[in-house]
Amino acid sequence: MEPSVGRMLWRGMTRRCARCGTGKLFTHWFRMVERCPGCGYRFQREEGFQLGGYVINFGVTEGLVCLVVAGYIVAAAANPNVSIWPVVVGGILAAVVTPIAFFPFSRTIWAAIDLALTPLTVLEQAEAETALAAKMREAAKRQEARP
Ligand SMILES: [Zn+2]
Repeated sequence: MEPSVGRMLWRGMTRRCARCGTGKLFTHWFRMVERCPGCGYRFQREEGFQLGGYVINFGVTEGLVCLVVAGYIVAAAANPNVSIWPVVVGGILAAVVTPIAFFPFSRTIWAAIDLALTPLTVLEQAEAETALAAKMREAAKRQEARP
């Protein structure tokens, strides 16, 4: 049974698998695992999957830069002598730090949106189950190999 759209989005916002809620989907801040370790869901369902995450990251970054500029406009309207430097520094920080800090969230949020818009096909579900079974078989073999 698939989770609700709200739950999928919440899981995406907390860098977890939208399908099962498993965390630890990144081996590095910028490197997402190919498949969910909890349910075997393959995140890159088609070529260009990362484009959706890129658009989300870009939108959030530009939104923050716009907020900084809007804050300056409001401050300058109230007091024309307000310094430009806070908006320059704030804008640069928002433009540089946000895409780096938000990167993994943009990926998992996009994965959640993608899954909500296009539920897994029977074939994809079977593929996920197979991948998960293979992973468990590997783990069992390693367990047996231990002295
Ligand atoms: Zn999962």
